[in-house]
Amino acid sequence: MNTINEKLQPILNTVLHRNAGEAEFHQAAREVLESLGPVIAKKPEYFDEALIERICEPERQIIFRVPWIDDNNQVQINRGFRVQFNSALGPYKGGIRFHPTVNIGIIKFLGFEQVFKNALTGLPIGGGKGGSDFDPKGKSDHEIMRFCQSFMTELHRHIGEYVDVPAGDIGVGAREVGYMFGMYKRLNNRFEAGVLTGKSLVYGGSRARKEATGFGTAYFVRSMLDVKGVDVAGKRCVVSGSGNVAIYAMEKIMSFGGKVVACSDSGGYVVDENGIDLDLVKQIKEVRRGRISEYVELRGDGCHYITGGSIWDVPCEIALPCATQNELNGRDAKTLVENGVIAVAEGANMPCTPEAVDLFESAKVLFAPGKAANAGGVATSALEMQQNASRDSWSFAKTEGRLEEIMANIHTACHETAEEYGAPGNYVVGANIAGFVRVADAMRALGVI
Ligand code: NDP
Repeated sequence: MNTINEKLQPILNTVLHRNAGEAEFHQAAREVLESLGPVIAKKPEYFDEALIERICEPERQIIFRVPWIDDNNQVQINRGFRVQFNSALGPYKGGIRFHPTVNIGIIKFLGFEQVFKNALTGLPIGGGKGGSDFDPKGKSDHEIMRFCQSFMTELHRHIGEYVDVPAGDIGVGAREVGYMFGMYKRLNNRFEAGVLTGKSLVYGGSRARKEATGFGTAYFVRSMLDVKGVDVAGKRCVVSGSGNVAIYAMEKIMSFGGKVVACSDSGGYVVDENGIDLDLVKQIKEVRRGRISEYVELRGDGCHYITGGSIWDVPCEIALPCATQNELNGRDAKTLVENGVIAVAEGANMPCTPEAVDLFESAKVLFAPGKAANAGGVATSALEMQQNASRDSWSFAKTEGRLEEIMANIHTACHETAEEYGAPGNYVVGANIAGFVRVADAMRALGVI
């Protein structure tokens, strides 16, 4: 476990006390505060206790009831959340997650991470996050629509293109964004395209948004390996999850010549030594909304499925956790290191436990934290906002070109910041300090608000 600068300890104590029981938020706040020691040592003007405390306290937290009627005419009640964490750099921006594990602590950790991630993109966006404990699995299309409409019936009061711009996350893709946008449009009687991102192309979405998070993660991995003079081509790669981020991380890694041999969902994982057939994964996940276990019977020989278990037992040189928080623990990290992993990049938010991160660092494995490696999604969401504001629609090549450039800039910022503060090669320190400095500078300019 890393140590925290003694001047920052009281701030962490306040966070722990004020947000009792919110383990994931504690974890995210501790990681950032642990990284800030070198900044306040080198540039004492950044040790503004009240400012750092304000960074750890959301500007606004909204919790609301979401009633909806299922296909059996039964009333169901879920809980909705939106945490508007920090708007020093621009309107709050961050996704909406529908998953039964969602609670205020999860949304707060995600919102907190988002603040620094968005700052790293260099684009004018603040940080926020939202969601519900609604479980979309097994729900009919009409149930999904009724839930999204009820969720937006409350949320619409709190968002707007200059206020707060949600997008998708776990359980929320183009279908859900469409139902929410439709309800927002009806309630407000205005076609405010920039109020949500991750929209479908047919009514104001951006090309390359769907691909952006996964593509961006792969670009970041390539940049880390470039520094070491190593090529992605020919490397064995394991990607957890088989949702939006995982699918497009696999696609880009494959286009770089990497060989993806395993992917998963919450039921288990598939190993395909011939290389994962991505068209088949897309067919199962994007079209049929099925389970990854179906892969084996559809693909035939040469692959197998393991129920449960840990995908990190599969030997690889590049590991991309792209499913959910704390899915890769110390045991998994040890196995990966023993099996010769050279690079790990977080496509998901905080998928590696602190123990796992420590192990990667001490084994000199290249490690990219989510707030840097998965920032391509929100960056392209900001590009979607730009297109909406100018009533424009860019080509795929132009949008992906901007994404590639932004990811290269994020990599450079993290790399150079880590060197500047005496932690060369430590992308966690680099990302946290680079993001913090941008947010802190803007907050200081705005005064105590
Ligand atoms: P999806 O809902 O599209 O996919 C999530 C995938 O992760 C599914 O394969 C899902 O399996 C699996 N999964 C979810 N929860 C668990 C769990 N508790 N245990 C094991 N597997 C699980 O979500 P995304 O791909 O959009 O998001 C994945 C991660 O990336 C999240 O951490 C998200 O916050 C992060 N992220 C997403 C961005 C985006 O643009 N979408 C941007 C930046 C970060 P199953 O279907 O069985 O539940």
